[in-house]
Amino acid sequence: MTQTVQLPIAVDTDLYVGGKHVSASDAGRFDVLDPSTGQPLASVADGTVEDALAAVAAAHEAGPRWAAVPPRERAEILRAAFDAMNAKAEALAELISLENGKALRDARGEVAYAAEFFRWYSEEAVRNLGSVTTSPSGSNQIVVLRQPVGVCVLVTPWNFPAAMATRKIGPALAAGCTVVLKPASDTPLTALAIAQILADAGVPPGVVNVLPARRSGSVVSAMLHDDRVRKISFTGSTEVGRVLLREASDKIVNASMELGGNAPFIVFADADLDAAVDGAMIAKMRNAGEACTAANRFYVESSVAQEFSKQFAERMAVLTVGPGIDPETEVGPLVNTETVDKVDRLVQGATAAGASIVVGGNRPERAGFFYEPTVLVNVAPDSPILGDEIFGPVAPIVTFESEDEAVERANDTPYGLVSYVYTGDLARGLRVGARLESGMVGLNRGLVSDPAAPFGGVKQSGIGREGGHEGMLDYTESKYIALQW
Ligand code: NAP
Ligand code: MG
Repeated sequence: MTQTVQLPIAVDTDLYVGGKHVSASDAGRFDVLDPSTGQPLASVADGTVEDALAAVAAAHEAGPRWAAVPPRERAEILRAAFDAMNAKAEALAELISLENGKALRDARGEVAYAAEFFRWYSEEAVRNLGSVTTSPSGSNQIVVLRQPVGVCVLVTPWNFPAAMATRKIGPALAAGCTVVLKPASDTPLTALAIAQILADAGVPPGVVNVLPARRSGSVVSAMLHDDRVRKISFTGSTEVGRVLLREASDKIVNASMELGGNAPFIVFADADLDAAVDGAMIAKMRNAGEACTAANRFYVESSVAQEFSKQFAERMAVLTVGPGIDPETEVGPLVNTETVDKVDRLVQGATAAGASIVVGGNRPERAGFFYEPTVLVNVAPDSPILGDEIFGPVAPIVTFESEDEAVERANDTPYGLVSYVYTGDLARGLRVGARLESGMVGLNRGLVSDPAAPFGGVKQSGIGREGGHEGMLDYTESKYIALQW
Protein backbone atom coordinates (compact mmCIF):
# COMPACT_ATOMS: atom_id res chain seq x y z
CA MET A 1 0.00 0.00 0.00
CA THR A 2 1.76 3.17 -1.19
CA GLN A 3 0.39 6.60 -0.45
CA THR A 4 1.56 9.80 -2.09
CA VAL A 5 -0.17 12.44 0.03
CA GLN A 6 -2.00 12.23 3.33
CA LEU A 7 -5.63 11.46 2.47
CA PRO A 8 -8.48 12.76 4.66
CA ILE A 9 -9.66 9.21 5.33
CA ALA A 10 -7.60 6.03 5.62
CA VAL A 11 -7.87 4.16 2.32
CA ASP A 12 -6.27 0.81 1.61
CA THR A 13 -5.25 1.24 -2.02
CA ASP A 14 -5.00 -2.46 -2.86
CA LEU A 15 -7.75 -4.46 -4.53
CA TYR A 16 -10.53 -5.59 -2.19
CA VAL A 17 -11.37 -9.23 -2.95
CA GLY A 18 -13.07 -11.78 -0.70
CA GLY A 19 -12.80 -9.42 2.28
CA LYS A 20 -9.02 -9.05 1.88
CA HIS A 21 -6.84 -6.31 0.49
CA VAL A 22 -4.56 -7.82 -2.15
CA SER A 23 -2.08 -6.56 -4.73
CA ALA A 24 -2.75 -7.00 -8.42
CA SER A 25 -1.61 -10.41 -9.75
CA ASP A 26 1.10 -8.67 -11.80
CA ALA A 27 1.82 -6.18 -8.95
CA GLY A 28 0.75 -3.31 -11.27
CA ARG A 29 -0.40 0.03 -9.89
CA PHE A 30 -1.57 3.33 -11.32
CA ASP A 31 -1.69 6.93 -10.11
CA VAL A 32 -4.79 8.85 -9.13
CA LEU A 33 -4.38 12.58 -9.86
CA ASP A 34 -5.64 15.68 -8.06
CA PRO A 35 -7.45 17.57 -10.86
CA SER A 36 -6.83 20.92 -9.19
CA THR A 37 -3.05 20.48 -9.53
CA GLY A 38 -2.55 17.59 -11.94
CA GLN A 39 -0.29 15.99 -9.30
CA PRO A 40 -0.57 12.38 -8.01
CA LEU A 41 -2.68 11.84 -4.89
CA ALA A 42 -2.18 8.12 -4.43
CA SER A 43 -1.30 5.00 -6.32
CA VAL A 44 -3.85 2.20 -6.56
CA ALA A 45 -3.54 -1.48 -7.45
CA ASP A 46 -4.40 -2.09 -11.11
CA GLY A 47 -6.60 -5.20 -11.31
CA THR A 48 -5.93 -7.78 -14.01
CA VAL A 49 -8.23 -10.29 -15.70
CA GLU A 50 -6.96 -12.90 -13.24
CA ASP A 51 -7.90 -10.61 -10.33
CA ALA A 52 -11.30 -9.96 -11.86
CA LEU A 53 -12.03 -13.68 -12.07
CA ALA A 54 -10.86 -14.11 -8.48
CA ALA A 55 -13.30 -11.38 -7.46
CA VAL A 56 -16.09 -13.12 -9.37
CA ALA A 57 -15.18 -16.37 -7.60
CA ALA A 58 -15.33 -14.62 -4.21
CA ALA A 59 -18.73 -13.09 -5.02
CA HIS A 60 -20.00 -16.41 -6.31
CA GLU A 61 -18.89 -18.26 -3.21
CA ALA A 62 -20.44 -15.68 -0.88
CA GLY A 63 -23.68 -15.60 -2.89
CA PRO A 64 -25.81 -18.41 -1.44
CA ARG A 65 -24.95 -17.52 2.16
CA TRP A 66 -25.73 -13.83 1.62
CA ALA A 67 -29.01 -14.64 -0.12
CA ALA A 68 -29.95 -16.79 2.89
CA VAL A 69 -29.27 -14.02 5.42
CA PRO A 70 -32.72 -12.95 6.68
CA PRO A 71 -33.89 -9.75 4.95
CA ARG A 72 -34.15 -8.00 8.31
CA GLU A 73 -30.48 -8.71 8.99
CA ARG A 74 -29.43 -7.52 5.53
CA ALA A 75 -31.52 -4.40 6.20
CA GLU A 76 -29.77 -3.76 9.53
CA ILE A 77 -26.36 -4.04 7.88
CA LEU A 78 -27.35 -1.53 5.19
CA ARG A 79 -28.73 0.77 7.87
CA ALA A 80 -25.42 0.49 9.74
CA ALA A 81 -23.64 1.42 6.50
CA PHE A 82 -25.85 4.52 6.25
CA ASP A 83 -24.86 5.53 9.79
CA ALA A 84 -21.18 4.72 9.23
CA MET A 85 -21.11 6.76 6.04
CA ASN A 86 -22.70 9.74 7.75
CA ALA A 87 -20.27 9.45 10.64
CA LYS A 88 -17.42 9.84 8.14
CA ALA A 89 -19.27 12.30 5.90
CA GLU A 90 -16.84 15.20 6.07
CA ALA A 91 -13.71 13.12 5.46
CA LEU A 92 -15.41 11.27 2.64
CA ALA A 93 -16.52 14.56 1.06
CA GLU A 94 -12.92 15.78 1.20
CA LEU A 95 -11.72 12.59 -0.45
CA ILE A 96 -14.27 12.95 -3.26
CA SER A 97 -13.30 16.56 -3.71
CA LEU A 98 -9.61 15.67 -3.87
CA GLU A 99 -9.84 12.90 -6.44
CA ASN A 100 -12.74 14.20 -8.53
CA GLY A 101 -12.15 17.94 -8.20
CA LYS A 102 -15.72 18.93 -7.37
CA ALA A 103 -16.36 21.75 -4.90
CA LEU A 104 -16.52 20.54 -1.30
CA ARG A 105 -20.12 21.74 -1.05
CA ASP A 106 -21.05 19.51 -4.01
CA ALA A 107 -19.07 16.65 -2.46
CA ARG A 108 -20.98 17.04 0.83
CA GLY A 109 -24.21 16.91 -1.12
CA GLU A 110 -23.03 13.78 -2.88
CA VAL A 111 -22.15 11.99 0.37
CA ALA A 112 -25.58 12.73 1.85
CA TYR A 113 -27.25 11.52 -1.37
CA ALA A 114 -25.01 8.44 -1.56
CA ALA A 115 -25.66 7.42 2.05
CA GLU A 116 -29.44 7.71 1.48
CA PHE A 117 -29.29 4.77 -0.94
CA PHE A 118 -28.16 2.56 1.95
CA ARG A 119 -31.02 3.82 4.15
CA TRP A 120 -33.63 3.56 1.39
CA TYR A 121 -32.61 0.01 0.47
CA SER A 122 -32.39 -1.02 4.12
CA GLU A 123 -36.09 -0.15 4.14
CA GLU A 124 -36.81 -1.91 0.84
CA ALA A 125 -34.92 -5.10 1.80
CA VAL A 126 -37.82 -6.24 3.99
CA ARG A 127 -40.41 -5.44 1.31
CA ASN A 128 -39.34 -7.81 -1.45
CA LEU A 129 -42.92 -8.47 -2.50
CA GLY A 130 -43.94 -11.37 -4.71
CA SER A 131 -47.53 -12.32 -5.49
CA VAL A 132 -50.08 -15.12 -5.41
CA THR A 133 -52.93 -15.07 -7.91
CA THR A 134 -55.44 -17.57 -9.21
CA SER A 135 -54.92 -18.75 -12.77
CA PRO A 136 -57.77 -17.51 -15.04
CA SER A 137 -58.75 -21.14 -15.65
CA GLY A 138 -59.25 -21.58 -11.92
CA SER A 139 -57.18 -24.75 -12.02
CA ASN A 140 -54.18 -23.58 -9.99
CA GLN A 141 -52.38 -20.76 -8.20
CA ILE A 142 -49.67 -18.58 -9.73
CA VAL A 143 -46.99 -17.98 -7.12
CA VAL A 144 -44.34 -15.41 -8.02
CA LEU A 145 -41.21 -15.09 -5.89
CA ARG A 146 -38.57 -12.39 -6.30
CA GLN A 147 -35.17 -14.06 -6.16
CA PRO A 148 -31.72 -12.41 -6.27
CA VAL A 149 -30.34 -12.34 -9.80
CA GLY A 150 -26.90 -13.54 -8.61
CA VAL A 151 -23.39 -12.17 -9.04
CA CYS A 152 -23.47 -8.60 -10.36
CA VAL A 153 -20.71 -6.64 -12.04
CA LEU A 154 -21.07 -2.93 -11.27
CA VAL A 155 -19.19 -0.41 -13.42
CA THR A 156 -19.30 3.21 -12.29
CA PRO A 157 -18.17 6.62 -13.62
CA TRP A 158 -15.96 9.27 -12.01
CA ASN A 159 -18.50 12.08 -11.76
CA PHE A 160 -20.29 10.75 -8.66
CA PRO A 161 -17.72 8.33 -7.23
CA ALA A 162 -19.76 7.62 -4.09
CA ALA A 163 -23.37 7.90 -5.21
CA MET A 164 -23.07 5.80 -8.38
CA ALA A 165 -21.53 3.02 -6.26
CA THR A 166 -24.11 3.09 -3.44
CA ARG A 167 -27.01 3.42 -5.90
CA LYS A 168 -26.01 -0.01 -7.23
CA ILE A 169 -24.59 -1.71 -4.11
CA GLY A 170 -27.59 -0.75 -1.91
CA PRO A 171 -30.32 -2.45 -3.98
CA ALA A 172 -28.05 -5.36 -4.97
CA LEU A 173 -27.34 -6.24 -1.33
CA ALA A 174 -30.95 -5.64 -0.32
CA ALA A 175 -32.07 -8.12 -2.98
CA GLY A 176 -29.52 -10.72 -1.80
CA CYS A 177 -26.98 -10.33 -4.62
CA THR A 178 -23.20 -10.18 -4.31
CA VAL A 179 -21.12 -7.77 -6.38
CA VAL A 180 -17.84 -6.88 -8.03
CA LEU A 181 -17.49 -3.11 -8.35
CA LYS A 182 -15.17 -1.71 -11.03
CA PRO A 183 -14.87 2.01 -10.24
CA ALA A 184 -13.69 4.63 -12.74
CA SER A 185 -9.90 4.87 -12.90
CA ASP A 186 -10.01 8.60 -12.24
CA THR A 187 -11.75 8.09 -8.86
CA PRO A 188 -11.14 4.66 -7.31
CA LEU A 189 -10.28 5.94 -3.81
CA THR A 190 -13.87 6.74 -2.82
CA ALA A 191 -14.99 3.25 -3.87
CA LEU A 192 -12.26 1.69 -1.73
CA ALA A 193 -13.30 3.88 1.22
CA ILE A 194 -16.90 2.71 0.79
CA ALA A 195 -15.74 -0.92 0.77
CA GLN A 196 -14.22 -0.30 4.20
CA ILE A 197 -17.43 1.34 5.46
CA LEU A 198 -19.44 -1.68 4.29
CA ALA A 199 -17.02 -4.11 5.95
CA ASP A 200 -17.24 -2.12 9.20
CA ALA A 201 -21.04 -2.22 8.94
CA GLY A 202 -20.96 -6.02 8.89
CA VAL A 203 -21.10 -6.95 5.20
CA PRO A 204 -19.50 -10.42 5.08
CA PRO A 205 -16.32 -11.09 3.04
CA GLY A 206 -16.93 -11.65 -0.67
CA VAL A 207 -20.32 -9.90 -0.78
CA VAL A 208 -18.78 -6.66 -2.03
CA ASN A 209 -15.51 -6.76 -3.97
CA VAL A 210 -13.82 -3.66 -5.38
CA LEU A 211 -11.52 -3.91 -8.34
CA PRO A 212 -9.83 -0.75 -9.59
CA ALA A 213 -8.53 -1.55 -13.09
CA ARG A 214 -7.20 0.65 -15.80
CA ARG A 215 -7.58 -2.09 -18.40
CA SER A 216 -11.32 -1.74 -17.96
CA GLY A 217 -12.24 -3.19 -21.35
CA SER A 218 -10.51 -6.56 -20.93
CA VAL A 219 -11.32 -6.87 -17.23
CA VAL A 220 -15.05 -6.23 -17.63
CA SER A 221 -15.21 -8.35 -20.78
CA ALA A 222 -13.66 -11.31 -18.94
CA MET A 223 -16.26 -11.04 -16.21
CA LEU A 224 -19.13 -10.81 -18.71
CA HIS A 225 -17.91 -14.05 -20.28
CA ASP A 226 -17.78 -15.90 -16.96
CA ASP A 227 -20.83 -18.12 -16.42
CA ARG A 228 -21.01 -17.16 -12.74
CA VAL A 229 -21.85 -13.53 -13.59
CA ARG A 230 -25.60 -12.93 -14.02
CA LYS A 231 -25.91 -9.16 -14.27
CA ILE A 232 -24.10 -6.00 -15.27
CA SER A 233 -25.16 -2.59 -14.05
CA PHE A 234 -23.28 0.16 -15.84
CA THR A 235 -23.28 3.94 -15.47
CA GLY A 236 -21.21 5.86 -17.95
CA SER A 237 -21.13 6.96 -21.54
CA THR A 238 -23.52 5.68 -24.21
CA GLU A 239 -20.51 4.70 -26.29
CA VAL A 240 -19.19 2.27 -23.65
CA GLY A 241 -22.73 1.14 -22.76
CA ARG A 242 -23.23 0.01 -26.35
CA VAL A 243 -20.03 -2.06 -26.19
CA LEU A 244 -21.08 -3.67 -22.89
CA LEU A 245 -24.56 -4.52 -24.16
CA ARG A 246 -22.93 -6.33 -27.06
CA GLU A 247 -20.57 -8.16 -24.70
CA ALA A 248 -23.43 -9.04 -22.35
CA SER A 249 -25.27 -10.65 -25.25
CA ASP A 250 -22.78 -13.52 -25.53
CA LYS A 251 -23.83 -15.07 -22.21
CA ILE A 252 -27.26 -13.33 -22.11
CA VAL A 253 -26.25 -11.38 -19.01
CA ASN A 254 -29.00 -9.22 -17.49
CA ALA A 255 -28.10 -5.56 -18.18
CA SER A 256 -29.01 -2.21 -16.62
CA MET A 257 -27.59 0.84 -18.35
CA GLU A 258 -27.51 4.43 -17.07
CA LEU A 259 -25.95 6.27 -19.99
CA GLY A 260 -25.32 9.75 -21.28
CA GLY A 261 -27.85 12.57 -21.37
CA ASN A 262 -28.49 15.78 -23.28
CA ALA A 263 -31.00 17.50 -21.04
CA PRO A 264 -33.08 20.35 -22.44
CA PHE A 265 -34.03 23.14 -20.02
CA ILE A 266 -37.18 24.87 -21.30
CA VAL A 267 -38.31 28.24 -19.96
CA PHE A 268 -41.76 29.49 -20.99
CA ALA A 269 -42.59 33.20 -20.86
CA ASP A 270 -45.13 32.57 -18.10
CA ALA A 271 -42.48 31.08 -15.77
CA ASP A 272 -41.35 32.69 -12.53
CA LEU A 273 -38.04 33.94 -13.99
CA ASP A 274 -36.22 34.14 -10.64
CA ALA A 275 -37.13 30.53 -9.95
CA ALA A 276 -36.07 29.56 -13.47
CA VAL A 277 -32.65 31.19 -13.01
CA ASP A 278 -32.24 29.47 -9.62
CA GLY A 279 -33.18 26.16 -11.23
CA ALA A 280 -30.82 26.78 -14.15
CA MET A 281 -27.92 27.37 -11.76
CA ILE A 282 -28.56 24.03 -10.06
CA ALA A 283 -29.32 22.06 -13.22
CA LYS A 284 -26.25 23.46 -14.97
CA MET A 285 -23.69 24.00 -12.24
CA ARG A 286 -24.03 21.15 -9.77
CA ASN A 287 -20.63 19.40 -10.03
CA ALA A 288 -19.44 22.11 -12.44
CA GLY A 289 -21.74 20.64 -15.08
CA GLU A 290 -20.26 17.15 -14.80
CA ALA A 291 -23.55 15.36 -14.29
CA CYS A 292 -25.47 13.15 -16.70
CA THR A 293 -28.51 15.16 -15.59
CA ALA A 294 -26.83 18.53 -16.29
CA ALA A 295 -28.91 20.94 -18.34
CA ASN A 296 -27.13 20.83 -21.70
CA ARG A 297 -29.35 23.06 -23.87
CA PHE A 298 -31.43 26.03 -22.76
CA TYR A 299 -34.57 26.79 -24.80
CA VAL A 300 -36.11 30.08 -23.71
CA GLU A 301 -39.29 31.64 -25.12
CA SER A 302 -38.11 34.65 -27.13
CA SER A 303 -40.05 37.31 -25.19
CA VAL A 304 -38.14 36.52 -21.97
CA ALA A 305 -34.87 35.26 -23.46
CA GLN A 306 -32.96 38.49 -23.02
CA GLU A 307 -33.96 38.94 -19.39
CA PHE A 308 -33.32 35.26 -18.54
CA SER A 309 -29.90 35.30 -20.23
CA LYS A 310 -28.92 38.50 -18.46
CA GLN A 311 -29.84 37.24 -14.99
CA PHE A 312 -28.33 33.80 -15.60
CA ALA A 313 -25.05 35.32 -16.89
CA GLU A 314 -24.85 37.64 -13.87
CA ARG A 315 -25.08 34.68 -11.54
CA MET A 316 -22.53 32.67 -13.54
CA ALA A 317 -20.07 35.59 -13.63
CA VAL A 318 -19.72 35.81 -9.84
CA LEU A 319 -19.12 32.12 -9.12
CA THR A 320 -15.87 31.42 -7.27
CA VAL A 321 -13.66 29.05 -9.26
CA GLY A 322 -10.89 27.20 -7.42
CA PRO A 323 -9.65 23.91 -6.00
CA GLY A 324 -12.63 21.85 -4.86
CA ILE A 325 -11.18 21.30 -1.44
CA ASP A 326 -11.15 25.08 -0.70
CA PRO A 327 -14.40 25.76 1.24
CA GLU A 328 -14.97 29.05 -0.66
CA THR A 329 -14.98 27.29 -4.03
CA GLU A 330 -18.26 27.07 -5.90
CA VAL A 331 -16.86 25.63 -9.14
CA GLY A 332 -13.97 23.17 -9.01
CA PRO A 333 -11.80 21.92 -11.87
CA LEU A 334 -13.04 19.39 -14.41
CA VAL A 335 -11.87 15.83 -13.93
CA ASN A 336 -9.06 15.65 -16.47
CA THR A 337 -7.39 17.55 -19.26
CA GLU A 338 -9.30 15.72 -22.06
CA THR A 339 -12.57 16.96 -20.57
CA VAL A 340 -11.35 20.58 -20.62
CA ASP A 341 -10.20 20.16 -24.24
CA LYS A 342 -13.62 18.85 -25.23
CA VAL A 343 -15.51 21.69 -23.52
CA ASP A 344 -13.23 24.27 -25.11
CA ARG A 345 -13.66 22.69 -28.55
CA LEU A 346 -17.45 22.80 -28.23
CA VAL A 347 -17.44 26.48 -27.18
CA GLN A 348 -15.12 27.42 -30.04
CA GLY A 349 -17.28 25.49 -32.50
CA ALA A 350 -20.37 27.34 -31.31
CA THR A 351 -18.75 30.79 -31.55
CA ALA A 352 -17.34 29.97 -34.99
CA ALA A 353 -20.94 29.23 -36.04
CA GLY A 354 -22.12 32.64 -34.78
CA ALA A 355 -22.81 32.26 -31.04
CA SER A 356 -21.84 35.13 -28.71
CA ILE A 357 -20.18 34.68 -25.34
CA VAL A 358 -21.96 36.64 -22.59
CA VAL A 359 -19.62 35.44 -19.86
CA GLY A 360 -16.67 33.05 -19.65
CA GLY A 361 -15.43 31.16 -22.69
CA ASN A 362 -11.84 30.59 -21.54
CA ARG A 363 -9.54 28.26 -19.68
CA PRO A 364 -8.28 30.29 -16.72
CA GLU A 365 -4.52 30.79 -16.58
CA ARG A 366 -3.68 28.43 -13.73
CA ALA A 367 -2.52 24.88 -13.06
CA GLY A 368 -5.17 22.16 -13.04
CA PHE A 369 -8.10 21.31 -15.28
CA PHE A 370 -10.26 24.45 -15.02
CA TYR A 371 -12.82 26.05 -17.33
CA GLU A 372 -14.72 29.30 -16.72
CA PRO A 373 -18.48 29.30 -16.14
CA THR A 374 -19.78 30.26 -19.58
CA VAL A 375 -23.05 31.47 -21.10
CA LEU A 376 -23.55 31.51 -24.87
CA VAL A 377 -26.42 33.20 -26.74
CA ASN A 378 -27.48 33.26 -30.41
CA VAL A 379 -26.51 29.60 -30.63
CA ALA A 380 -27.41 28.11 -34.01
CA PRO A 381 -30.00 25.33 -33.54
CA ASP A 382 -27.78 22.84 -35.41
CA SER A 383 -24.62 23.76 -33.48
CA PRO A 384 -22.67 20.64 -32.29
CA ILE A 385 -22.68 21.99 -28.73
CA LEU A 386 -26.43 21.25 -28.63
CA GLY A 387 -25.98 17.67 -29.83
CA ASP A 388 -23.00 16.64 -27.70
CA GLU A 389 -22.93 16.11 -23.94
CA ILE A 390 -20.92 19.16 -22.76
CA PHE A 391 -20.09 17.84 -19.26
CA GLY A 392 -18.74 21.22 -18.19
CA PRO A 393 -19.84 24.66 -16.91
CA VAL A 394 -21.19 25.93 -20.24
CA ALA A 395 -24.78 26.99 -20.97
CA PRO A 396 -25.84 27.51 -24.60
CA ILE A 397 -29.13 29.43 -24.95
CA VAL A 398 -31.50 29.10 -27.90
CA THR A 399 -34.82 30.94 -28.28
CA PHE A 400 -38.19 29.48 -29.32
CA GLU A 401 -41.59 30.86 -30.29
CA SER A 402 -44.16 28.15 -29.50
CA GLU A 403 -44.82 25.18 -27.26
CA ASP A 404 -44.68 22.79 -30.20
CA GLU A 405 -41.34 24.20 -31.32
CA ALA A 406 -39.90 23.83 -27.79
CA VAL A 407 -41.00 20.20 -27.57
CA GLU A 408 -39.75 19.35 -31.06
CA ARG A 409 -36.33 20.86 -30.41
CA ALA A 410 -36.08 19.25 -26.97
CA ASN A 411 -36.89 15.81 -28.42
CA ASP A 412 -34.51 16.20 -31.36
CA THR A 413 -31.77 14.05 -29.79
CA PRO A 414 -30.94 10.35 -29.52
CA TYR A 415 -30.74 10.83 -25.72
CA GLY A 416 -33.58 10.88 -23.22
CA LEU A 417 -32.48 11.00 -19.60
CA VAL A 418 -34.05 14.13 -18.10
CA SER A 419 -35.74 17.35 -19.21
CA TYR A 420 -36.45 20.52 -17.24
CA VAL A 421 -39.51 22.73 -17.76
CA TYR A 422 -40.29 26.06 -16.13
CA THR A 423 -43.81 27.44 -16.52
CA GLY A 424 -46.40 29.16 -14.32
CA ASP A 425 -49.14 27.08 -15.97
CA LEU A 426 -49.22 23.67 -14.33
CA ALA A 427 -51.51 22.21 -17.00
CA ARG A 428 -48.99 23.21 -19.65
CA GLY A 429 -46.15 21.84 -17.54
CA LEU A 430 -47.78 18.44 -17.24
CA ARG A 431 -48.80 18.40 -20.92
CA VAL A 432 -45.26 19.23 -22.05
CA GLY A 433 -43.79 16.85 -19.45
CA ALA A 434 -45.80 13.99 -20.91
CA ARG A 435 -44.66 14.83 -24.47
CA LEU A 436 -40.94 15.04 -23.65
CA GLU A 437 -38.99 11.92 -24.58
CA SER A 438 -37.04 11.46 -21.36
CA GLY A 439 -37.20 9.11 -18.41
CA MET A 440 -37.44 12.02 -15.96
CA VAL A 441 -38.78 15.58 -15.97
CA GLY A 442 -38.01 18.40 -13.55
CA LEU A 443 -41.10 20.62 -13.53
CA ASN A 444 -40.24 23.99 -11.96
CA ARG A 445 -37.33 22.16 -10.37
CA GLY A 446 -33.64 21.99 -11.34
CA LEU A 447 -32.88 18.75 -9.49
CA VAL A 448 -34.59 15.38 -9.93
CA SER A 449 -32.20 12.92 -8.25
CA ASP A 450 -33.83 11.28 -5.23
CA PRO A 451 -33.07 7.80 -3.81
CA ALA A 452 -36.81 7.24 -3.42
CA ALA A 453 -37.56 7.89 -7.11
CA PRO A 454 -36.93 5.74 -10.20
CA PHE A 455 -33.94 7.32 -11.97
CA GLY A 456 -33.19 6.40 -15.55
CA GLY A 457 -33.45 7.20 -19.22
CA VAL A 458 -35.20 6.27 -22.45
CA LYS A 459 -33.78 6.12 -26.00
CA GLN A 460 -29.95 5.98 -25.92
CA SER A 461 -29.83 7.16 -22.30
CA GLY A 462 -30.32 3.69 -20.98
CA ILE A 463 -32.28 0.66 -19.86
CA GLY A 464 -33.61 0.09 -16.36
CA ARG A 465 -34.16 2.30 -13.32
CA GLU A 466 -32.15 2.93 -10.18
CA GLY A 467 -33.60 4.17 -6.90
CA GLY A 468 -37.16 3.84 -5.67
CA HIS A 469 -38.96 0.53 -5.51
CA GLU A 470 -37.98 -0.17 -9.12
CA GLY A 471 -34.28 -0.05 -8.24
CA MET A 472 -34.38 -3.28 -6.27
CA LEU A 473 -36.56 -5.10 -8.82
CA ASP A 474 -33.68 -4.68 -11.28
CA TYR A 475 -31.59 -7.00 -9.04
CA THR A 476 -34.23 -9.72 -8.86
CA GLU A 477 -35.65 -12.37 -11.17
CA SER A 478 -39.27 -13.48 -10.99
CA LYS A 479 -39.57 -17.16 -10.11
CA TYR A 480 -43.01 -18.45 -11.08
CA ILE A 481 -44.32 -21.58 -9.42
CA ALA A 482 -47.54 -23.09 -10.80
CA LEU A 483 -49.15 -24.47 -7.70
CA GLN A 484 -51.97 -26.90 -7.22
CA TRP A 485 -53.08 -27.31 -3.68
P1 NAP B 1 -17.07 6.07 -19.44
O1 NAP B 1 -15.85 6.41 -20.15
O2 NAP B 1 -18.15 5.37 -20.15
O3 NAP B 1 -16.61 5.28 -18.14
C1 NAP B 1 -17.51 4.77 -17.21
C2 NAP B 1 -16.94 3.52 -16.60
O4 NAP B 1 -16.78 2.52 -17.61
C3 NAP B 1 -15.58 3.69 -15.96
O5 NAP B 1 -15.50 2.85 -14.84
C4 NAP B 1 -14.65 3.22 -17.05
O6 NAP B 1 -13.43 2.75 -16.57
C5 NAP B 1 -15.44 2.07 -17.63
N1 NAP B 1 -15.08 1.73 -18.99
C6 NAP B 1 -14.55 2.51 -19.95
N2 NAP B 1 -14.40 1.83 -21.08
C7 NAP B 1 -14.81 0.56 -20.84
C8 NAP B 1 -14.90 -0.62 -21.62
N3 NAP B 1 -14.53 -0.66 -22.88
N4 NAP B 1 -15.40 -1.73 -21.03
C9 NAP B 1 -15.78 -1.71 -19.75
N5 NAP B 1 -15.73 -0.63 -18.97
C10 NAP B 1 -15.26 0.50 -19.50
O7 NAP B 1 -17.79 7.34 -18.85
P2 NAP B 1 -17.13 8.51 -18.08
O8 NAP B 1 -16.46 9.35 -19.09
O9 NAP B 1 -16.31 8.02 -16.96
O10 NAP B 1 -18.41 9.20 -17.43
C11 NAP B 1 -19.18 10.15 -18.08
C12 NAP B 1 -20.41 9.54 -18.71
O11 NAP B 1 -21.22 8.88 -17.74
C13 NAP B 1 -21.29 10.59 -19.28
O12 NAP B 1 -21.72 10.23 -20.56
C14 NAP B 1 -22.46 10.66 -18.32
O13 NAP B 1 -23.64 11.14 -18.85
C15 NAP B 1 -22.57 9.26 -17.89
N6 NAP B 1 -23.30 9.20 -16.63
C16 NAP B 1 -24.56 8.70 -16.66
C17 NAP B 1 -25.30 8.64 -15.52
C18 NAP B 1 -26.69 8.09 -15.54
O14 NAP B 1 -27.18 7.72 -14.51
N7 NAP B 1 -27.35 8.00 -16.68
C19 NAP B 1 -24.74 9.05 -14.31
C20 NAP B 1 -23.44 9.55 -14.31
C21 NAP B 1 -22.72 9.61 -15.49
P3 NAP B 1 -12.10 3.63 -16.72
O15 NAP B 1 -12.31 4.83 -15.87
O16 NAP B 1 -11.05 2.72 -16.20
O17 NAP B 1 -11.95 3.98 -18.16
MG1 MG C 1 -13.82 7.87 -19.68
